[in-house]
Amino acid sequence: MSNFYFGLFWVSVYLALVLSPLVALLLGRVPAGNGFWWDFSLALGFAGTAMMGTLFLQTARFRRVAAPFGIDIVYYFHRQSSLFAFAFILVHPVILLSLEPGLWDSFRLSPGNWPVWAGAGSLLALMLLLGSSLWRKTLHIHYDSWRIAHAVLACLALALAIVHILGVGYYVDAHWKKMIWGGITASWLLLLFYIRLIRPVLLLQRPYRVTGVRPERGETWTLQLAPDGHAGFNFQPGQFAWLTVWSSPFALKEHPFSIASSAERSDCLEFSIKELGDFTARIKDVQIGQRVYVDGPYGSFSIDREPAPGFVFIAGGIGIAPIMGMLRTFADRSDNRPCLLIYAYNSWERLTFREELESLQDRMELNLVTVLKDPPAGWQGEVGLVNRGVLERCLPEQRASREYFICGPVAMLDLSERLLHELGVPMHRIHSELFDLV
Ligand SMILES: Cc1cc2nc3c(=O)[nH]c(=O)nc-3n(C[C@H](O)[C@H](O)[C@H](O)COP(=O)(O)OP(=O)(O)OC[C@H]3O[C@@H](n4cnc5c(N)ncnc54)[C@H](O)[C@@H]3O)c2cc1C
Repeated sequence: MSNFYFGLFWVSVYLALVLSPLVALLLGRVPAGNGFWWDFSLALGFAGTAMMGTLFLQTARFRRVAAPFGIDIVYYFHRQSSLFAFAFILVHPVILLSLEPGLWDSFRLSPGNWPVWAGAGSLLALMLLLGSSLWRKTLHIHYDSWRIAHAVLACLALALAIVHILGVGYYVDAHWKKMIWGGITASWLLLLFYIRLIRPVLLLQRPYRVTGVRPERGETWTLQLAPDGHAGFNFQPGQFAWLTVWSSPFALKEHPFSIASSAERSDCLEFSIKELGDFTARIKDVQIGQRVYVDGPYGSFSIDREPAPGFVFIAGGIGIAPIMGMLRTFADRSDNRPCLLIYAYNSWERLTFREELESLQDRMELNLVTVLKDPPAGWQGEVGLVNRGVLERCLPEQRASREYFICGPVAMLDLSERLLHELGVPMHRIHSELFDLV
């Protein structure tokens, strides 16, 4: 089955998961109607809760689910659908309270009002969840703390929403309807159990050993790993994996990195990591023989998914890492299809993989264009940033039939995509990888 049909299948599964609680609630005996807006607000509440449940599924990293779209798109969808789930759940009490102001009384502190307080608690947890996600960087919340808080708040919001639904009992008074919600809750709990327990256990059983830590130009370190007691995994060039280095897979301290080594070698994985923050700055201290865990492969940023007569790569800074994986694979496969690499960096001295890129030109059809922001004296090449002029000068004549892979800073990605499109490259031939999933 092609990716398109797989994609269609998973979209249908998603719609079924979101809508089935609604359909189930409308079957059998339903309470006497209180008018359209009343029922509409309840439908929003139920749909919002069901959407909340599917948010866990979206970040569960099931390869079959993510494969047709790419995990970055799945994460993007996760962000957008969480906003919709929140809006639905927020509008639900707003409508009810404006229709029936007397309902404010149910917020009085009395033991009988616990279902309403559970609903309010769920909404509050959702607000904190969204606020801390949307403004994490502005609020200076460390990624690791945010991730733990995110998981706790998500479970709390969903659990309280279900307590609210079952406690209020409206539309779910029949025993079998309670069973349906119980079943839905149980499947979400199972999912959580899989993500937090089963998957870490599976990773623990397939460890990797560090076999090398190599300095590269541009404050970058290449970590070389070998599977320890198993055969490793096959991957497509350009894909990425989550690395856990100083903790156990249970600790939620994994970081995503592109696989920079050739896809022709599953016995040895390489990740080239630029010093940036707490975790990446410590990579140089990793010990040879140290045990690490690799959860992968993920992602759809790969030449293997896009057959074409030729390829154009645009890299900025450490965005070269996944592209390096693709170029090394081209060379190992003796694939002679023409490749153009436009590589933007600050300086010639710090240009990561400078020497290897030059030598790769002997092993494959690679045309290398380096764009330097701060060039050395006497530099004859391109200067500044990747802009329209650079693209007009470098792109091949048959540009519309090539596949384009861009990885680098957001501004470079956005500009390159727009310029390529203006220069006649169809959008479906442009693939971008952003090093920021949140
Ligand atoms: C698909 C993908 C592929 C990547 N490939 C590479 C690569 O090949 N080489 C490379 O040098 N970098 C790569 N990155 C970026 C790398 O994951 C981050 O630079 C690194 O996790 C930062 O961690 P830190 O603690 O050093 O920095 P911090 O200063 O703590 O974080 C900087 C930013 O990185 C992001 N980040 C931090 N921790 C995580 C985490 N655990 N999971 C996800 N994002 C996080 C957050 O947006 C954070 O604001 C990739 C990112 C993605 C999404």
